[in-house]
Amino acid sequence: MDSNNIRNFSIIAHIDHGKSTLADQIMTLTHTVDQRSAKPQLLDNMAVEQQHGVTVKAQTVTNFFIAKDNQRYALNLIDTPGHVDFSYEVSKSLAATEGVILLVDATQGVQAQTVANFNLAKAQNIKILPVINKIDSLNADVAMVKQQILELDVDFSDSDILEVSAKHGTGVENLLEEIIQRIPMPKLDHSVSGLKALVFDLSYDNYQGIIAHVRLFSGELRANQKLHLMHADKKFESKTIGIFNPNMVEKDALHAGEVGFVVTGIKETDQIRVGDTITTQSSGALEPLRGYEAAHPVVYAGIFPKDDFLTMKSALFKIALNDSSLSIEEDYSDALGPGFRVGFLGNFHLQIIRERLKSEYDLEVITTSPNVTYKVHLKNAQLLAINNPINFPDFSDIDYVEEPVVTVQITTLPETVNQVINLSEKYKGILTDLNNLSNLVQLTYDMPLSEIAYHFFNALKSETHGYATLSMGKIVYQPADIVKITFDINYSRVPQLTYLTHRIDANNEAQALVHKLKYTVPRQLYPMPAQAIIEGHVIARVDIPPIRKNAAVSGDKKSISKQQVLLRRQSLNKRKSKQLTFELPQSVFDIFLEI
Ligand code: GDP
Ligand code: MG
Repeated sequence: MDSNNIRNFSIIAHIDHGKSTLADQIMTLTHTVDQRSAKPQLLDNMAVEQQHGVTVKAQTVTNFFIAKDNQRYALNLIDTPGHVDFSYEVSKSLAATEGVILLVDATQGVQAQTVANFNLAKAQNIKILPVINKIDSLNADVAMVKQQILELDVDFSDSDILEVSAKHGTGVENLLEEIIQRIPMPKLDHSVSGLKALVFDLSYDNYQGIIAHVRLFSGELRANQKLHLMHADKKFESKTIGIFNPNMVEKDALHAGEVGFVVTGIKETDQIRVGDTITTQSSGALEPLRGYEAAHPVVYAGIFPKDDFLTMKSALFKIALNDSSLSIEEDYSDALGPGFRVGFLGNFHLQIIRERLKSEYDLEVITTSPNVTYKVHLKNAQLLAINNPINFPDFSDIDYVEEPVVTVQITTLPETVNQVINLSEKYKGILTDLNNLSNLVQLTYDMPLSEIAYHFFNALKSETHGYATLSMGKIVYQPADIVKITFDINYSRVPQLTYLTHRIDANNEAQALVHKLKYTVPRQLYPMPAQAIIEGHVIARVDIPPIRKNAAVSGDKKSISKQQVLLRRQSLNKRKSKQLTFELPQSVFDIFLEI
């Protein structure tokens, strides 16, 4: 199709403002799906998405529409992930578009995620169409919401703002006309003659291998074409190509400006990432498109398979295909065997990945305590970057430690500002700026990355009933008093439980952790102490009771001396074992995610 007749766009919105409903309505109106087969929320199809109510993985669909000018247009709707924690993926999707629909619920108004998403789109320099949804609702206050939208951006004027009911379809046809009028036709790269296709999403099919979702900026893509993935430096031959309508429909060729898929036939998943550029092997492009960034994980954790290492490896890399922030390296633990050191965007991200391993691949894994990367300056002037607590050096060798501190922006409602301020203080945040938007407050903090990555995000969400958004900015390193806590169970060290924290929190956290151990470590026939140790000193201890009564309490009929003999024998047994003779379940490792 002529690129004059193509529009590539996304819908961005606060959760529940009607993004999925509008996408469904557009697909119905353009007969991409017929009314009868239209399932609610066609685009959200991952189990995890449905559970968390967020779109994790982006999906695409081409809708054909005959406009008032009697011309046929291809309207490519590229779905964006709907969670702030996944904003890196939002940007990847937006890089494939020339515009967005900024959807705002008429009963709710501009909300935290509206602002966060608006900022992302603004940063990408693409056309923003403000649209008010749910105008059919009795609680709609269109005039008020218009005012809020106008305050978002001086470039908006009253007449720019469209009104729809995604549910009933009111105004949706007009919206499509406006998309054609106001969103620019695809920008093409005229500097090259060869093929340049941006990979903005990836999926995996057991028979066909990796399927790349692409947006062409120049050239032509065909089936059975010799192609080259520029960043991965991988050569392959396209099997089939085509568009999503909404299912995969084969085409002979895709042209500059178009959006579609390439079946690559590639089965190795460990090199290919979203953001890569596809070109041809001969007379291809010399420079890849912008849009490729290596993974920027902030938290690392060990992930170990309960069963088969290779099955887990394959599953992890398939997940990483469309999750470009995940970094994966092989790792080995004496106790847990072969596994991976995986980098995440935060604990919430770690949870999502664990749930995806379970729901999509039926895999149970052991996850060790998450860690940011510390810079450890040794007395011998050596500098170490440590993201695995097991490698944290002995305190006697350390000169000083630096931790990552990040600038975060929190957007919330005026009524929860006090809770947010208290919470941020508790997590060592230093307030640097406070801004009032029309109905929202924006707070800027410098905060240790570890606090945000481990617990602050979840705490913020629960304090604000899931409302506030948090976006992270620049990371700098600052000196911090970090200590290593190690744990002994029954006098044997359990290296996988090693944990790094701020010294001022160490006591409280160690107490909380040993108490959790008391209820998660499987009980044995003998009592076992669980101890937390810092710099050679035991700072917390609990006794894990035995399954059966032990000699000290069950010997009521025996003489005192017999009891003592038994006790001595028990404690000798204990001290002899250097390694735990039983396995620790995942619940033991989860204690770090809970405190
Ligand atoms: P998303 O989270 O942005 O994808 O929001 P959904 O599309 O799932 O919509 C959230 C809720 O709002 C659902 O219960 C929809 O039925 C409802 N909804 C969506 N659009 C409209 C609308 O135009 N009018 C009314 N009254 N409800 C709507
Ligand atoms: Mg949705």
